[in-house]
Amino acid sequence: MDSTTLLYQLLEEGDEVLAISFDYGQRHVKELEFAARTCEKLRVSHQVVDLSDVGRLLGGSALTSGDIEVPHGHYEHESMRLTVVPNRNMIMMSIAAGHAISAGYDRVAIAVHAGDHAVYPDCRPRFIEVFEDAVLEGNYGRVTVYAPFIDMTKTGIVRLGRALGIDYENDTWSCYEGGEEPCGKCGTCVERAEALAGA
Ligand SMILES: [Zn+2]
Repeated sequence: MDSTTLLYQLLEEGDEVLAISFDYGQRHVKELEFAARTCEKLRVSHQVVDLSDVGRLLGGSALTSGDIEVPHGHYEHESMRLTVVPNRNMIMMSIAAGHAISAGYDRVAIAVHAGDHAVYPDCRPRFIEVFEDAVLEGNYGRVTVYAPFIDMTKTGIVRLGRALGIDYENDTWSCYEGGEEPCGKCGTCVERAEALAGA
């Protein structure tokens, strides 16, 4: 939901966008299929980067280890730490920043939001700030990080997205389980339902 909204907003703002999805050995690739469909619909080029080999080195998370069950409940609960993938945003954003410099884009956009802060340290403002510093310090090219939702709630994101014409129910996938239908119980299902109802 967050990334899709950000993509719509960037296009609304007139940006030229290349979308990048990552296969990091997550439990299922449904989110990648939905991302591909959205990019096709919006005529945005879309790269899928295969990090499945890297994903094997990032075990210990319910999202990358098949033998750890996806925790149910609300994101504020301690159990949600099981969904933290070590250093995930650093790895993905590093690749995106490298590609941006190489292909002549001037920024990396990421849809982290206020609701992510409690559980995911790599979604907090301080991380985004020091990551940008590291990229500027370590490269000749100048690429900044754009995280416009960093202080927004997910409900706020959905309000914005609906105004941009997004059909969340049909065009986005959130559930960490890869079933036919969303499980309705995992952290991201709960958060999604709250955001849709709240908006
Ligand atoms: Zn779910």
